[in-house]
Amino acid sequence: MLVERFESALWETSSLLLAAGSEAVLIDPGVAADEVARIAARVRELDVRITHVLATHADWDHVCGIAAFPVAASGIDIAGEPRVDRTFAAGAALQLGPFLVETLALPGHTPDGTAFRVRELDVLAVGDHLSTVEFPFVTSTAAYRGTLAALIDLLRRDPPARVVPGHGPELTAAEALPVAEADLGYLWELHDAVTAGATQDEARAAGLAVDVPRPAAEDLAEAHAANVEAALSERFG
Ligand SMILES: [Zn+2]
Repeated sequence: MLVERFESALWETSSLLLAAGSEAVLIDPGVAADEVARIAARVRELDVRITHVLATHADWDHVCGIAAFPVAASGIDIAGEPRVDRTFAAGAALQLGPFLVETLALPGHTPDGTAFRVRELDVLAVGDHLSTVEFPFVTSTAAYRGTLAALIDLLRRDPPARVVPGHGPELTAAEALPVAEADLGYLWELHDAVTAGATQDEARAAGLAVDVPRPAAEDLAEAHAANVEAALSERFG
């Protein structure tokens, strides 16, 4: 059995190859064509059959490699656009090829965010959370706080050996916990700043003054302003 993480040059995006025997599962294969080809070459080298390709969420950087891996069982062989052969409700475990994969809903970055946990491999893939190279990018600050609280609880009470964020290096549970706590602290500071502003303009200024918990790539820096707008719409409509 093996777990291999591939890293894209774009935002250190993670792709995971999980293999057992002659079968394997991919999570978020990407991003650039040559990077996807590198994963495909490794699959051929290991001589494993990809039974399933999972996406932690439907942001383009996490789904753009799906077209390169047609699942033989689906009977569909489309190279080009990412596609969805099957959906599931997060919460239940799924038998996917050789692995029993636990699924955990992680809304807040996107509504469809899902963590995948394979106990046999002691690995948890968390999509765009717990990154040491980014800070939270939210669609819902309230949902994201709930997701972080759930992850903190999980990391304390039922920690996996390996945590693989969607961007940046793999972490131990002990390394992931302070990231989750710092991110939750940031979102509460943002909440409190926006709540204290009497008007929308005051609230926006207060929100923009909140420090992000860590730097991110330059082209992602405006995400803090987007987080402030999300917090404003949650308070003022
Ligand atoms: Zn991402």
